[in-house]
Amino acid sequence: MTVRAGIGYDSHRLVAGRSLVLGGVELESELGLEGHSDADVLTHAVIDALLGAAGLGDIGIHFPDSDERYRDADSIELLVVAVALVRAAGYTIVHVDTTLALETPKLGGARERIRARLARALALNASAVNVKATTGEAIGFVGRREGVAALAIVTVDG
Ligand code: MG
Repeated sequence: MTVRAGIGYDSHRLVAGRSLVLGGVELESELGLEGHSDADVLTHAVIDALLGAAGLGDIGIHFPDSDERYRDADSIELLVVAVALVRAAGYTIVHVDTTLALETPKLGGARERIRARLARALALNASAVNVKATTGEAIGFVGRREGVAALAIVTVDG
C-alpha cells in the first residue's frame, strides 16, 4: 500500500440572507455563505482534498457551478459522490483533518456535530476526522467577517 495525501482549500463570501452551513451543519448566524450550492466551504475543502489524494482533479471538474443541477445543492451529497469516486479509483480513505477560518460564531458544541456529519458522509469513524477552527484576529477577509475559508488534508491508502 502507498500512502497518499491530498490538500483542499476553499473560501466563500459572507452575506445577509443566506444560511451558514459548515460540514453539513447549519449554525446560528446573522450572515451566511454565498455560492451556487449551499456554499459549505468546509465540505468543499474536504471534497478537493479527497479528489487531490486520488489524482481526480478538483470539485469544479466534477460539480461545475455552471450546472443547474448543483444550484443550492447539499454539499454533503456531493461529498458522498466524491467518496464513491475515490473508492472506485482504488483508494481507501484513512484520515481527514480540517481547519476552518472564521471570525464568528464560535463552533462550540457544533464542532462535534460537524465531525460526526463529515465522518458519516466519509464512512469513517469520528476518530478519523478532525475539525479545528481559528479566527482571523480581526484582520484580512476572515477577520473583517467578509468571508470564511477552510483547509483540509486527506490521507488515503492505495
Ligand atoms: Mg466552494
